[in-house]
Amino acid sequence: MKGFTTRIVHSDRLRPIEHGSLQKPIHATVAYGYEDARDLAAAFQGTKAGYTYGRQVNPTVEALQDKITAMEGGVQSVCFSTGMAAIGTTIFALLRAGDHFVSSSFLFGNTNSLFNTFTTQGIDVSFVDATDVAAVEAAITDRTRLVFVETIANPRTQVTALEEIGRLCAERNLIYFVDNTMTSPYLFQPKAVGASLVISSLTKYIGGHGNALGGSVTEMGQYDWTGFSNLYETYRKGDPQKWAITQIKKKGLRDFGAALAPEAAHHIAVGAETLALRMERQCANTRAMAEYLAAHPQVKNVYYPGLAGHPEHGRARRLFRHPGALFSFELTADVDLWQFLNHLKVIVKSSNLGDNRTLAIPVAHTIYFEMGPERRASMGIDDSLIRISVGIEDESDLIEDLAGAFDAAGN
Ligand SMILES: *Cc1c(COP(=O)(O)O)cnc(C)c1O
Repeated sequence: MKGFTTRIVHSDRLRPIEHGSLQKPIHATVAYGYEDARDLAAAFQGTKAGYTYGRQVNPTVEALQDKITAMEGGVQSVCFSTGMAAIGTTIFALLRAGDHFVSSSFLFGNTNSLFNTFTTQGIDVSFVDATDVAAVEAAITDRTRLVFVETIANPRTQVTALEEIGRLCAERNLIYFVDNTMTSPYLFQPKAVGASLVISSLTKYIGGHGNALGGSVTEMGQYDWTGFSNLYETYRKGDPQKWAITQIKKKGLRDFGAALAPEAAHHIAVGAETLALRMERQCANTRAMAEYLAAHPQVKNVYYPGLAGHPEHGRARRLFRHPGALFSFELTADVDLWQFLNHLKVIVKSSNLGDNRTLAIPVAHTIYFEMGPERRASMGIDDSLIRISVGIEDESDLIEDLAGAFDAAGN
């Protein structure tokens, strides 16, 4: 098999491209016309390959779906307008009222908010410390259908017990749903730990340039859907590995309508070509910054799985090509948080992560504000915690920027 970047860069050409174009063209169309009305009917009935309507399918989006499937080593992918749409519609499409799922408590903030909303709709969730497989196991009931985890949690960088939970899900016949956004398929492929479905926010590392929103779900072909009673009879046709992804596409994408725009798909596909190059640089910068801060007298704690003192350092080394491009840290009491942030000149004060630019955000006051102090405390989020998403700038400029902010903000 060819290498990761070779496969991504050439994946579009695996299907014929119009006029020999090297980039898959942007198909800015909603509908598709047919000469023979019987072909139109066959496309709708799924008996013949063909395009139906832009909310379900678009050639530019389809090319990106194939690229993501190739990156993850999966069976088939479906793209959505955002990462949140991918998570929400997938769970909506697969679970029913009365079902229960177990989730890591160390979650992207909006995912946490979404899962709490599910509990008001009859789908129950238990939040547990997913760095410990025993906590996941203890939360399983006879109504549990699925386990949801992130690879490295943001902002505190806990590394999930990915292998152990994979084995547990296989034993208990549970769907293993892994959010691979923080590692990206370049650093880690959840297929290796038995994932059933992988989601990615394409907005982050895969797109990489902070210029387009998108999300994806990939079927990994490792779960036996024949015994899963929530699948509709009409989708139980053909290869069982594709039953669930078909239901996600129909009940989730088509009926909820969070379709990815072809223009966004193009931006993301171009960005994805350099995923490996960007990640190498971003991960190297991250290590340098985390090590600099860990040795700084005005820093209380640095959370980065690449540091030997991190509780899951060994797990991160074993599982990931590099320990990620995001870290967080707390300042000592003598440094004013706002002064420090405001004196950063290269690093941008902004949300988002996975951009080419380095971004800093005080998390308790912004992205984790709405959940309140108690839930923040349970997630280990201190008021002085700063999250840094590391970009591709020159390492020395980033270190110098941090040093300058300490000089200006310290007493
Ligand atoms: C950003 C993010 C999401 C949501 O993705 P959007 O594209 O912003 O909707 C989900 N999970 C993780 C881990 C994320 O970082």
